[in-house]
Amino acid sequence: MNHNNNNELSIKAEQLELLFKQSYLAAYLSPWIAALLAIALLDVQTPTILMAWLSIIAIATVARLVVFKRFFSANRPINNPQKWEQLYITTTLLYFACWSVGGLFILPPDNLTYQILLMYFLIGMAGSAISVFSAQRLVQICSVAILLVPGIGFFYLQNSLLTTCIALGGTFFLVSAVRSSKVLTDSITMNAKLNRELEAAKIKAETLANIDELTNLYNRRAFYRDGIKSFEQCLANNKPCSVMILDIDNFKEFNDKYGHSTGDTILQNFAAVLSKNIRSTDFCARVGGEEFAIILADTSLATATEIGNKLVDAIATQQHDIGLDHLPTITSSIGVACNKEESFAQFIQRADTALYEAKDMGRNQVIAA
Ligand code: GH3
Ligand code: MG
Ligand code: MG
Repeated sequence: MNHNNNNELSIKAEQLELLFKQSYLAAYLSPWIAALLAIALLDVQTPTILMAWLSIIAIATVARLVVFKRFFSANRPINNPQKWEQLYITTTLLYFACWSVGGLFILPPDNLTYQILLMYFLIGMAGSAISVFSAQRLVQICSVAILLVPGIGFFYLQNSLLTTCIALGGTFFLVSAVRSSKVLTDSITMNAKLNRELEAAKIKAETLANIDELTNLYNRRAFYRDGIKSFEQCLANNKPCSVMILDIDNFKEFNDKYGHSTGDTILQNFAAVLSKNIRSTDFCARVGGEEFAIILADTSLATATEIGNKLVDAIATQQHDIGLDHLPTITSSIGVACNKEESFAQFIQRADTALYEAKDMGRNQVIAA
């Protein structure tokens, strides 16, 4: 349910992004169209009334542009798309109401030519509104309706054949525009939905490719790809970098005695102890069946050995609450190495050799290379 809500919100955010981008230019241009209309009406209307109308359009434009500016400078991803949508709808529809209702007020009541001129401008605005607002059907339909309905009503009320034909033409345009726009907005919504799903699938695939399913630590592939980055970064910055290779002691015996699935639980507990006892900057991975590796950037051999000893203790004293009595103590051996002039493979190899020494020396201990 929560996931669905999140999905809906991010689709809405994507639609809004498109809506704002699509309509930005139109928001700038349309007051100039109002100015052109006002100039065209100068012959039949007093400049004061025209200026008053233009001032209202200018105020509404500024309100719209402020919303645009704030939207574009808001943090991404937009965390409250509903608020932005409401702001957008309110300012846009108010702006169009200034155009259509205000337009009727500035018309000379008995000059059909200029009435048709206004209708021409409004139909042009409505036509561009269909494409400019295609990302959001509600805005699209409401703006087309607000632009055209008052004018169409006005022409119906004139009661002449010509004006009725104009009103009917406007009505047909309105109906067909609303109907055909559905296909466009639906496909844009579908596109946003598919984008979202694709992104989620990509993140999931990337996670699966880098994370070990059993322990949730990084896997071997991620270790060799990203571990080397830490190693090289330390080398470039002249900083020490240490690596720790850990291997559970006598784990085969444990598995044979208690079963593979109990063994798996031990591996999970083991990974949890590692995660709990290392720093967030350390890079910890499961590099083999019961073998783990940790890259400790900016860490000397002495510090890494100290951390290794802490881990050996934490592992040996960990309680494995798996419903079995007399569980043997799980221990691990650790080999540690600190970087010198060598390749990443040689660096890992030295830690591995130290690990085998730790095994030879009786296990449950740390050996520094
Ligand atoms: P040593 O102290 O020398 O490391 O002895 P060991 O028995 O741990 O070493 P060895 O490498 O011979 O055995 C590793 C065992 O780890 C073999 C296998 O039973 C077990 N193992 C490897 N991967 C998994 C796994 O994913 N789940 C479980 N339950 N066991 C695993
Ligand atoms: Mg092993
Ligand atoms: Mg082992």
